[in-house]
Amino acid sequence: MIEGFEEIKTKMLAMREAARKNPPKLIEYDCPECKDSRIITRIDEDGVERASICQCVQLEQARRIMRQSGLSDIQRSVNFTSYQTFGNKDLENAKQKAINYYRGFLKIEKTEQNSMLLCGQVGAGKTHLGIAISNNLMEQRIPVVYMPYRNAITALKQNIMDEEGYAREMNKYLNARVLYIDDLLKGQPTESDRKILFEIINHRYINGLPMIITTEVRPEALIDFDEAIGSRILERSRGNIVVFRGSQLNYRLRGLGL
Ligand SMILES: [Zn+2]
Repeated sequence: MIEGFEEIKTKMLAMREAARKNPPKLIEYDCPECKDSRIITRIDEDGVERASICQCVQLEQARRIMRQSGLSDIQRSVNFTSYQTFGNKDLENAKQKAINYYRGFLKIEKTEQNSMLLCGQVGAGKTHLGIAISNNLMEQRIPVVYMPYRNAITALKQNIMDEEGYAREMNKYLNARVLYIDDLLKGQPTESDRKILFEIINHRYINGLPMIITTEVRPEALIDFDEAIGSRILERSRGNIVVFRGSQLNYRLRGLGL
């Protein structure tokens, strides 16, 4: 027997017992990718270490924007399950297209047809589908910045004299990984509305950044409103365009048996 063996054994058993009672805590990060440092570093092929801002920064911002959007808790928490189609083929197709869009998003994100347009009939649940897509993308850690068209344009115009504030506000919409414009062209658009909108759509078009757009305006009328804006939206949304036609799709009227 080695001298002191029993002593060491007793000490070790005591340590093991202490560890069992008080296990070391696993560190839990909000963002496992950057371990909450907000910065991702990687070694490039040339051997140089480069740092970039982690996606979680934009994700947090997108969640904050959504919370402050003026939508109610219920409106913000909708999903595909709560989108009722009442056996209507058009609504079922719309829902399926929206589901396909978010499921295939990562595959099409870098292509030229990476956007989705839901347009037409009032009350067909366009915003419901737009938010359901956004929520599902956010769950996959893809930030979607919500832009309630009329309010956002008004806020931008109020900021127009404050160069820095305007640029900061505008940057949210210009460079978001995904931008969801809700109720596009709601209200009577003015010339300055048109300019602001063109700046956003054109920047995102040139840089291949995806958009989800809901609007009561149908494709033909979108082109009539502004060919440059309309054609860019339609081009990027090709294959992912849903046009709701007919008042029978209005859920507010359905209950009335009309
Ligand atoms: Zn992170």
